[in-house]
Amino acid sequence: MRPFLLLVTAMTLTAQTPGPNVRPLVDGTLSLETSLLRGIAPAEAVRMLGGRTAATTPVNAFLVRQAGKVILVDTGMGKDPEEDSGHLAEGLAAAGVTPAQVDLVLITHFHFDHVGGLLLPGGARAFPRAKLCVSRVEHDLWTTRDRLPERLWERIPKVRAIFEAYGSDLVLTRDGDAVAEGVTALAAPGHTAGHTVYAFRSNGRDLWCIGDLIHFGEVQFARPATGISFDLEGDLAVRTRLDFFRRAAAGNVVLAGAHLPHLVRIVQDGDGYRTTRVEGP
Ligand SMILES: [Zn+2]
Repeated sequence: MRPFLLLVTAMTLTAQTPGPNVRPLVDGTLSLETSLLRGIAPAEAVRMLGGRTAATTPVNAFLVRQAGKVILVDTGMGKDPEEDSGHLAEGLAAAGVTPAQVDLVLITHFHFDHVGGLLLPGGARAFPRAKLCVSRVEHDLWTTRDRLPERLWERIPKVRAIFEAYGSDLVLTRDGDAVAEGVTALAAPGHTAGHTVYAFRSNGRDLWCIGDLIHFGEVQFARPATGISFDLEGDLAVRTRLDFFRRAAAGNVVLAGAHLPHLVRIVQDGDGYRTTRVEGP
């Protein structure tokens, strides 16, 4: 077969074969002020947001069906009466999934808006059968005072309660571990020490659940060196984002962000990236 025909055949196959089967589940929303951004002039951030001084971002979890497993990435904020939050259970029900059917919960990091749905209000596990995968580094960060900033020490008992509730179903991972068939945990440190990207591969197509690699999509794709005050290690968070974005653009990877309104692919544009919205993976 001539090279041109080979190329057309490959493109046709790519268009027809589905990638990872992912469904965003919006748990709620958070309003983030531009004053949280670092490494960009405040006026420039406001200009990029079309004159707004805050961005309303979703808080997403992701439901992925892969290799016969029902997988949840992150669990939202849980029910907070003062926030638009706790809609994960409704999203799961709308997808036809009961909490008992979830086989695997993958946690990107232990900020409240990612682990709030792991326990029911009374303290019992929300996902009674699921294995709970967490980076070993992240586990260690949140269970001792050694590396955790003092302002976060009050979180330690809450995090320990989660680990105790999941007991022997807790799986501590390292960079590069396969947590299920076609699912790899990738260390993405900086936002927190054990912040983890989960890479899904199906039919040769890639989708990464990137957690909090990015918060302000309208600013940080075009200016990926822009940080946010939530990053526990700001310079490392920037280096990690630049590294993952470079690899995602080169590999045509679909990105699913915890605080992005859409699934996107990215292409390099000067020092930053342009996004294309992806309807399905
Ligand atoms: Zn977050």
